[in-house]
Amino acid sequence: MKGLLDQKFNNGGVVISSLEDLTNWARLSSIWPMGFGLACCAIEMMGAYASGYDLDRYGVIPRASPRLSDVMIVAGTVTYKMADRVRRLYEQMAEPRYVISMGSCANCGGPYWEHGYHVVKGVDKIIPVDVYVPGCPPRPEALIGGILKLREKIENETLVEPAGLRAIVENLD
Ligand code: SF4
Repeated sequence: MKGLLDQKFNNGGVVISSLEDLTNWARLSSIWPMGFGLACCAIEMMGAYASGYDLDRYGVIPRASPRLSDVMIVAGTVTYKMADRVRRLYEQMAEPRYVISMGSCANCGGPYWEHGYHVVKGVDKIIPVDVYVPGCPPRPEALIGGILKLREKIENETLVEPAGLRAIVENLD
């Protein structure tokens, strides 16, 4: 993408780039998260979509189906009861697919870390995570920062082995 965007259109509008750069540029410019939330962090995620922060300007538009989504933002507490559903939704997403863990609960169990018998101590125990956003809850600016980090990651992917192609971890206990 660097090559593509750094080009000045001085040579009759001709841009020379690699297929890899072009594909990554397209992917990072149209990140479509699945539209769902699990707990209070989801309220801040909704705030990030609203007009004040306007995530649409990065091409980030929530979709109603996992089959149309390439990013899962895990915003909230992952209970053991929800864990299977979260993993099933992840499995239904097309590859390459990415995960942003938003907030302390999704990162490590948060306030339920010590005594929350019902809470998975980190969503990375059931699905692979690309970016962790700290906070309880993280503000919309922090989520936007996480999305920008994910864009950096996608920008540097190779077509042969994109980061979004990974096995699902199986260590839920
Ligand atoms: Fe709620 Fe805090 Fe957990 Fe987010 S990290 S879901 S704000 S308790």
